[in-house]
Amino acid sequence: MIPKPTLDLSIVIPIHNEAESLPPLHAELDVVLKALGKSYEIIAVDDGSRDDSLQVLKQLAQADPHLVVVGLRRNFGQTAAFAAGFDQARGEVVITIDADGQNDPADIPALLAKMAEGYDIVSGWRQNRKEPLFTRKIPSRVANAIITSNTGISLHDSGCSLKIYRYEVIKTVKLYGDMHRFIPAFASWMGVKVAEVPVKDRARKFGKSHVGFSRTFRVFLDLFTLSFLLSFQSKPMRLFGGMGAATGAIGVLILAYLALIKIFEGAPLSNRPILWLGVMLVILGVQFLFFGLLAEMQMRTYYESQGKSIYVVREIISQPSSPTPETTPARAGK
Ligand code: UDP
Ligand code: MG
Repeated sequence: MIPKPTLDLSIVIPIHNEAESLPPLHAELDVVLKALGKSYEIIAVDDGSRDDSLQVLKQLAQADPHLVVVGLRRNFGQTAAFAAGFDQARGEVVITIDADGQNDPADIPALLAKMAEGYDIVSGWRQNRKEPLFTRKIPSRVANAIITSNTGISLHDSGCSLKIYRYEVIKTVKLYGDMHRFIPAFASWMGVKVAEVPVKDRARKFGKSHVGFSRTFRVFLDLFTLSFLLSFQSKPMRLFGGMGAATGAIGVLILAYLALIKIFEGAPLSNRPILWLGVMLVILGVQFLFFGLLAEMQMRTYYESQGKSIYVVREIISQPSSPTPETTPARAGK
């Protein structure tokens, strides 16, 4: 069971070598959060910075009881830093924001107002971004198309770190790889309502970006995993069994054809390259089927050994007088 939230807001910030950006960001957050008049905590996750980020955070924390500093032992990456923050979060609404000052904390109230209309996740949508076409814009369009076709959720700007989530959503989602940008897509399996709000995108003042071309590639591999998990996590045999049946059937057809011409025409098979294709497809088909069986066993271990369920309950409505399984007295002896 997930413990109940004890605060209104948790702000989670992943930090890697951002020492100079931290004091101004903290000051901006302080103004915005105090003005909201809600209880809150700021969870600053230092992701193994090599500069003075951790010292700066410790100093800031001495003057601000709202600031919780989580120091990771080494650099685990932005997704892991988010995950570490989410594990600590106690707020009914969890807000993520980058440490480099590119997101503007002044946009937070607009996101909260949108959520109050009945959404579970509200994502920032950075306006007027000047992005290179081939390394950023096209990959992001393609990624969005894949996500939309898998989940029905369409976000213009998955990569925007300024997002807010309801507590139970963020506590249910587990993150791996570079998946933090796909939390809305990932959470779609539990049935979430997602909205977008335009936000500002500011230039980085200090430090430098961690982005390289390799990230685009990694993000696509993660997207591949995501599509698989969303469609087949609890029924892998549907995928592997389907592929096995298709390849196996084509192989069997080829071999049957060759057998027929051998029997009726007496044609030699040694000079027929298609023989090898048929044999290979049949072997491949059988392999796929057994792979599917292994995946089914793994899936059962995954769910049952960890007490995970294949559904998420929003609420249970029952009359106070009606007996629920826990309160029904044992009937033994009757
Ligand atoms: N970050 C992190 N660990 C890493 C890389 C980045 O915690 O290994 C943090 C970084 O400090 C920043 C955020 O993740 O707060 C986004 O990183 P960056 O600004 O480099 O990405 P961009 O905004 O350029 O996409
Ligand atoms: Mg940035």
